[in-house]
Amino acid sequence: MENSHHYDIHLELKPAEQRLAVEGKLTFAAAASVQSVIFYLHSQLEVGDISGELVSGYGFQEMAAPGVFFPMARMLRVTFTRPLAPGEQTEIRFRYGGAITQWPTWSANVVSPGWIEMGLYLPWFPLLDKEFGSFTYDLSVDCDPAYQVRSSGAPAYDGKTWRFSWDRPTNDIVVIASPDLKTVTVEAPGCRVDVHYVSLQEATAHQIGEDLLWLLARFSEWYGGPPLPVVSLVQPGRASGGGYSRLGLVVMGGLVDQAYMEKRKQYARYLAHEAAHFWFSSAPTATWEDWLNESFSEYSALLALREKYGSDVFEEFMAIKREKALGAAPIWGFDRSGASPDLPMGEVEAILYHKGVVLLHTLSERVGPMKFMQVCREMVAQKTQTTAGFLALVASYADQCGAEWMEEALKAR
Ligand SMILES: [Zn+2]
Repeated sequence: MENSHHYDIHLELKPAEQRLAVEGKLTFAAAASVQSVIFYLHSQLEVGDISGELVSGYGFQEMAAPGVFFPMARMLRVTFTRPLAPGEQTEIRFRYGGAITQWPTWSANVVSPGWIEMGLYLPWFPLLDKEFGSFTYDLSVDCDPAYQVRSSGAPAYDGKTWRFSWDRPTNDIVVIASPDLKTVTVEAPGCRVDVHYVSLQEATAHQIGEDLLWLLARFSEWYGGPPLPVVSLVQPGRASGGGYSRLGLVVMGGLVDQAYMEKRKQYARYLAHEAAHFWFSSAPTATWEDWLNESFSEYSALLALREKYGSDVFEEFMAIKREKALGAAPIWGFDRSGASPDLPMGEVEAILYHKGVVLLHTLSERVGPMKFMQVCREMVAQKTQTTAGFLALVASYADQCGAEWMEEALKAR
């Protein structure tokens, strides 16, 4: 069942003091019968109140395992007076605040006077445990007028309050604020890219916007699906922490003018991979089924490169993938954790970004690119989450023989 949790959040930001205050509510839509809900919230934030017609109480809990993705979070359990029935909705209202001054040195989320970037790595909002599914949001932010504020989607500012409305189910609410932010917008019919940057030349920011817009147009054409109203690309104003992507938002760490202009193809591959995730992200990321997200996104990136730079460039990238895929473990049922001594993270990456891509390309050549694309379109339309589902689509939209070959290839070393 498609969940439709929705946050309405008002955030007051005081960057100089690294302080925030939040008032808001989550309209929680129960997918199954549920008596309590798990959230994550940054451990330095103090809860003033959590309430709701059906809320009987709340409490912080020890984390069973230290969170890898959000080590600074506390687990918050909100309990209902009675179990919610499947399909039932109820409001959970919350008020809390505090100063966020602690994060790991490698964090991509920071709260410093010159650059604020907070999302699920530094959960500033009560982040719903992913077992409950994705959510949409309306966000308003009050901040020092010297600051520019951004989130996913187009910003609206009335001279006092910034407003954002994101109506495509996602798994994060990223807020960025800085006195140094600039934005260029690049548009085509039905598609818009905002590039938010701190130290790029305007011409580079514009070029990145054009490049991303071109990729989005290709993927829309190939895979269909509802268009994203606005896609944002951010050059962060922090020295470390790298990049990440959310639906409609790409944060590119380490982005500088010269490198972008000199390494257009490498950046195009990176951008294309992240953009392709807007179409391929339905499979669970913690299991081996994650290859459906990663290999399809990476293969899509190479197909886009072929379109833009020609077959020679495509074959160069493909040759590297074939080499790195050599001897990689079977994809079928592999241990995604990267913690297994039999399958360290390097080999997990060889499976996700190389072997899976080689197999998809071989499948496409076997059944023909037209039929392969049809399978991709169906995967996107049906939000296919499992390899079994993917193979069923290959059998019905390409051919049975291709499906059998693919299953064997996925099981082979
Ligand atoms: Zn990826």
